Amino acid sequence: KWKQMVADDGRQSSSVLPTPSRFLLNLSKPTLPHPQWEEISVMDERNTPMRTYQVCNVMEANQNNWLRTRHISREGAQRVHIEIKFTLRDCNSLPGVPGTCKETFNMYYYESNNANLWFIKESQYVKIDTIAADESFTQVDVGDRVMKLNTEVRDISNLSKKGFYLAFQDLGACIALVSVRVFYKKCPLTVLNLAQFPDTITGGDTALVEVRGVCVNASEEFEAPKMYCSADGGWLVPIGRCVCKPGFEENKDGCQPCRPGTYKASATDAYCTKCPPHSSSPQEQAFECVCERGFYRAETDPRSMACTRSPSAPENPISTVNETCITLEWSPPRDTGGRGDVTYSLHCRKCSGDSRKCTPCGSSIHFVPRQFGLSSPTVLVTDLQPDSNYSFTVESQNGVSDLSPTPKGTVVINVTTSQTVSVVLKERRSKDSVTLAWQGPERPDGAIVEYEVIYYEKREQNYTVLKTRSNMMTVEGLKPGTTYVFRVRARTDGGYGTYGGEIELETSHEDVFPIGDPNQSTILAVSIAGGIVLLVFLVTCFVVSGRHCGYIKAKQDPDEEKMQFQHGRVKLPGSRIYIHPHTYEDPNQAVRDFAKEIDASNIRIERVIGAGEFGEVCSGRLRVQGKREIYVAIKSLKAGYSDKQRKDFLSEASIMGQFDHPNIIRLEGVVTKCKPVMIITEFMENGSLDTFLKKHDGQFTVIQLVGMLRGIASGMKYLSDMSYVHRDLAARNILVNSNLVCKVSDFGLSRVLEDDPEAAYTTRGGKIPIRWTAPEAIAYRKFTSASDVWSYGIVMWEVISYGERPYWEMSNQDVIKAIDEGYRLPAPMDCPVVLHQLMLDCWEKGRSDRPKFGQIVTILDKLIRNPASLRELANSSACREDPSTPELSVNTVDEWLEAIKMGQYKENFSSAGYVSLDSILYISVSELAKMGVTLAGHQKKILSSVENLQSQGTHVQV
Ligand code: AMP
Repeated sequence: KWKQMVADDGRQSSSVLPTPSRFLLNLSKPTLPHPQWEEISVMDERNTPMRTYQVCNVMEANQNNWLRTRHISREGAQRVHIEIKFTLRDCNSLPGVPGTCKETFNMYYYESNNANLWFIKESQYVKIDTIAADESFTQVDVGDRVMKLNTEVRDISNLSKKGFYLAFQDLGACIALVSVRVFYKKCPLTVLNLAQFPDTITGGDTALVEVRGVCVNASEEFEAPKMYCSADGGWLVPIGRCVCKPGFEENKDGCQPCRPGTYKASATDAYCTKCPPHSSSPQEQAFECVCERGFYRAETDPRSMACTRSPSAPENPISTVNETCITLEWSPPRDTGGRGDVTYSLHCRKCSGDSRKCTPCGSSIHFVPRQFGLSSPTVLVTDLQPDSNYSFTVESQNGVSDLSPTPKGTVVINVTTSQTVSVVLKERRSKDSVTLAWQGPERPDGAIVEYEVIYYEKREQNYTVLKTRSNMMTVEGLKPGTTYVFRVRARTDGGYGTYGGEIELETSHEDVFPIGDPNQSTILAVSIAGGIVLLVFLVTCFVVSGRHCGYIKAKQDPDEEKMQFQHGRVKLPGSRIYIHPHTYEDPNQAVRDFAKEIDASNIRIERVIGAGEFGEVCSGRLRVQGKREIYVAIKSLKAGYSDKQRKDFLSEASIMGQFDHPNIIRLEGVVTKCKPVMIITEFMENGSLDTFLKKHDGQFTVIQLVGMLRGIASGMKYLSDMSYVHRDLAARNILVNSNLVCKVSDFGLSRVLEDDPEAAYTTRGGKIPIRWTAPEAIAYRKFTSASDVWSYGIVMWEVISYGERPYWEMSNQDVIKAIDEGYRLPAPMDCPVVLHQLMLDCWEKGRSDRPKFGQIVTILDKLIRNPASLRELANSSACREDPSTPELSVNTVDEWLEAIKMGQYKENFSSAGYVSLDSILYISVSELAKMGVTLAGHQKKILSSVENLQSQGTHVQV
């Protein structure tokens, strides 16, 4: 037994604990009776007394010494962490100890609602782990303070009772237990997007805890805010947001009232704005500004519009009398009141006699286009009575006239309608002329300007108009022996009067002139011909443009576009293009063209290894003439299949058979001539990549993982070069062989629709594996090699996180929303910065901004050649992106590139001659591209940092 121990300071060194966390236990409180464990006071290096628990019965066999804690309340946590600090003596260092000496001890727990259990049977405990020391110590040298303190952390998950007891079992080791700390992790209270998320205890296993945020004061929900609390106490995936209520604007993490003189009308407006003209807000928190006296706001006026007033009166009225019709015209008001919606209304009164007694006109007169709400300053009034006085009031109004107590602006127009000309006929007739005479009106409304004589041949349509200033006229050039009708009217300053009565006169007999104008008929003929030509032209245009539209539409249809490629019509010289099996009228011919028929007797099936969509997948051997036996996977088509199922099943072979690449699963052949129909492929010993990674969690080096990713990227480059779009690239569809070589598989035509359990129906119909699919493919089925690149980014994330489910347990809808709002998966644990950056590049919103598979292969090759570039981890606290550390001082180009996480381009910069920080200040995209920085995302990142450099000297935004 030792009496003095090397120990840490017994109080907590919070630096080893992740914040936020909450302690449940400190071993400073005594535990229950523990006869073999001794509670000993020792001094730490600062001479502070502290207690340890020790046991060291190494000389005797059959030890079973228990040390138990008091009841530890779990305070609602489902998962707690236990950190123990201890020293453990190396058995070899103890002279003469028997072989029963141990170098481990066991840790247990027992869940219970009872906080005062006196005794717990050994068999009731659940074992947490056997604890061994990383560093056992061979000598105790307190004087030199040789610290050989071990720290181990273990978790217990899914706790459900009030609390638990911890126990330590010694089976014959030499142990000093220096500290035991029990804690759980919380996501700390935080405010994001104006929503407050409470202190949240992390979930039981790795599951995320979904937390609804509460809008902060003076804000309201725009879209339900929520976030997920991750197992290690971090907040993930903010969705939705709150917005400041009307009258408030956002300020840091809250909402502040609008200052006097400003207002905010709607919650969705970002900021308070100055009151519009003729309005003010004397108080804080205004959601609208009050109009000044005499100014108004119509109900439909936006709050941002200036307050307005009613218009002034119309001006410059003019009337034109035309018999019993009057045209009234006026100019718009000088002051429209600040609005564009001025209209006019008319009121008519008929005034009788000299007394000018006026009464409303009634409904017998008509206004064209209308009497009220005229938008142009003119109106035609019809059906007035001749020789009468009328008074028209024209009123101007606008959207706020009804709100204004002041009378509307008006102008009055008085008009007298014309009197008829009473013609007194003085007739003189010859064979080709007639002379008429008349008397003017008795009370003309103004001086008579002229008379108008109209005449026409009786029963004919064409008439002739003649004008004269005198009271008589001789009409010449008439046909002999023909009856004509004559009428006369007077024109005064006020307009035309009405016609007098008709007078019929017959000329004396003579020769008859031919009628009809040959020129007119010519014009008519030309018009008809022109009309026909025009019609033919229009019809032709319609047909042509109809065809044209149809063509454009077809061209824009992504499927059509794809079909063009698949039919091999767009073929680049020297490149092999994948041929879609649908191109074949007879799908069996596609199978014959691309897959070798294998004699079933050469296949030996050994065991079932999986279940495919169409039947079992088995492993077995294939004997190929002249070659040694090879291991193969055999997919068979279950009995009772339909024609379509057979076609779909074999389509995978006719697609796979066109590929020949080390990272694409190789087709050995098919069996179609006898039943069951089979597809034979090379055998991949380690099965699908997702299951394989989960099974080997944490067991590979980064270089091995990057090697796998490189293989997948290379296979995908081959497929994209052949214009094949995979559409369902995911770790579950990658197979791994015994040499860790990854190969892309799953090429069936129906696979995305029926086979993939991850595929979900989208609102546009069709099934899509949402978590792996690019937004444009989800939204409008734009599947391209660039959408395959997005999926590849997700595969990278799956690989580095050893088969973690992308976006954890979030719903598909939440994933779509989060991606749309710009959220991207964070770096998995221990993920090199460069790899996470590459993932983010693959998840660029614009598909042309994503890297091509060829570029991905080049990047990964570089990383493999230079493993040091993988050393910097994305989630090591020192380099985590943190907006609160806005600046970093850098002195060299290399330091700068490291600071903005573009360290992989150091060589490119130095060999291009960019050696000092000054030299990069005016670098351009084309120069970046020239020196080999070709990814759009990286170019953007570098150039935006250069901008910062320009504005901040050498303080770089990171
Ligand atoms: P599939 O129908 O292609 O999705 O295959 C179903 C399952 O069978 C896969 O998830 C694999 O576990 C297994 N499998 C398919 N092909 C092979 C192969 N060539 N080598 C080894 N396992 C395979």
